[in-house]
Amino acid sequence: MCRIAVFPGSFDPFTVGHESIVLRATGLFDNIIIGIGVNSTKNTFFTAAQRLTIIRKVFAGNDKVDVQTYDDLTIDFCRRVGAQYMLRGLRTSSDFEYEKSIAQVNQVMLPEVESVFMLTLPEHASVNSSVVREVLRYGGDISKFVPKSIRIQDYIVKS
Ligand code: ADP
Repeated sequence: MCRIAVFPGSFDPFTVGHESIVLRATGLFDNIIIGIGVNSTKNTFFTAAQRLTIIRKVFAGNDKVDVQTYDDLTIDFCRRVGAQYMLRGLRTSSDFEYEKSIAQVNQVMLPEVESVFMLTLPEHASVNSSVVREVLRYGGDISKFVPKSIRIQDYIVKS
């Protein structure tokens, strides 16, 4: 049976922490679907289309990784794509507490999907999308925090 994992998140923007989790997980699963959750009431720095383009570029040529957007419940997205696993990354104990409650609710709603957690690498423990957004807002250098294969700055739409 093909082991399919969904890696859901906002990815606003996608960071080296996210990239590392996906790459390490390719050894565990046959197929990883990065699911960009789109919430129309939430203001994001990058549009869903920009995030889709960025993440697809990062994994271009990696046939184990697919990228899609969804705008409903993550468990409904998992059901739609036939995933048996939901992958999440953990950096801190507060990540753990937050993820635990989500995973337990998801477990009640869709028991056939197992949540799988991967600890971040020590060097990525303090990388988070909101700090990267803040640095981007003020024109700082984010190159150490985002995947090497893309220049995320090129996707910022100047108004
Ligand atoms: P969400 O909006 O669902 O919190 P994020 O885009 O912030 O989504 O993150 C998606 C997943 O990646 C979450 O499981 C989060 O804990 C994990 N993650 C975020 N940053 C890192 C990092 N630096 N190292 C490992 N996992 C991370």
